[in-house]
Amino acid sequence: MILEMYNIEKRFGNFTALKFDELLFDNNRYYVILGPSGSGKTTLLRIIGGLEYADSGKIIMESREITNMPPWKRDIGLVFQNYALYPHLKVYENIASPLISKNVPAEEVNHEVKNILDIMELTDQARKFPSQLSGGQQQRVALARALVKRPKVLLLDEPLSNLDSRVRADLRDYLKKTQREFQFTAIHVTHDPEEAMALGDKLVVFHHGKIIQNDTPYNVYNNPNDIFCARMLGNINLIPRNSIDLDLNDDFDYYGIRPEDIFIDPNGNINGTIKYKDFLGHGYMYAIDVNGFTLKVLAGKDVHLSSKQEVRLRFDMSRLNIYKNGKKVSPA
Ligand code: ATP
Repeated sequence: MILEMYNIEKRFGNFTALKFDELLFDNNRYYVILGPSGSGKTTLLRIIGGLEYADSGKIIMESREITNMPPWKRDIGLVFQNYALYPHLKVYENIASPLISKNVPAEEVNHEVKNILDIMELTDQARKFPSQLSGGQQQRVALARALVKRPKVLLLDEPLSNLDSRVRADLRDYLKKTQREFQFTAIHVTHDPEEAMALGDKLVVFHHGKIIQNDTPYNVYNNPNDIFCARMLGNINLIPRNSIDLDLNDDFDYYGIRPEDIFIDPNGNINGTIKYKDFLGHGYMYAIDVNGFTLKVLAGKDVHLSSKQEVRLRFDMSRLNIYKNGKKVSPA
């Protein structure tokens, strides 16, 4: 265990921004903190980094309490959304600056910076100023500068959100690769579910300052603890109990099933009528009317159906989750 947080509470005036009992981080893992705007994600990172102090609770790093320790004494690196590079320093000096301010001998600085420039494929950019780089390159410099001190924990606050989608995908691969090579624990904040699932070994979902679920992306996606979490991870059909009857006996008010877990199948037991479709490239998202309820169903790119066409549907019942008052009900 690299980092342990217990009974954390943080208020701003009367407003409780964070409140949870326990959050634990293992060594060399990639954690993604996912939540909507205002759920407390940035506040969590600031408390871990020591830029903000919790009103109550305890933080332990490698068995040592760091709850009230100032940021510069913590072995924790930071990368933000807006890169925060020194505009008057070239790439090389930007990356070297954390080592120079720690009085690391010049030769060692040179060695370390060259090494990291090489790993991050930035050697050709070393003599440029930040303003002469693309957004993706600037963020790689910011990452290199945070990693040159070899922190055991790296905090990343929406590091990809200022980049366009192709650069974002490239940098996403970079982040994962770097985390494996440098062997640190990443704590990465985002509100993008795809980014969260692609990067995370573990996913911690926050809502109103509380932890809703802390599990592998696979489990959070397939078995969300509550309706909020189910929606947060992407498209889902939340079907009121009486709207499409599946003969379920449990006590619940909704069941949830993802569009890819419903199949258009002539042997299916549910009748529907196609309303419209969206082409997604890898497939079609069909909107299908069943008894007045509009179901979303994902089909392959070669499944061409037109509106008003009648279809039969089959649900993968093993993928169904049932909810009562917004919370998941364990299957009977
Ligand atoms: P976003 O995705 O929009 O950055 P977030 O999940 O990171 O949101 P936080 O920035 O942690 O959310 O903020 C959580 C809540 O605490 C918000 O409602 C915010 O307005 C409030 N808050 C944060 N910092 C302060 C502050 N210094 N003073 C008062 N309220 C604050």
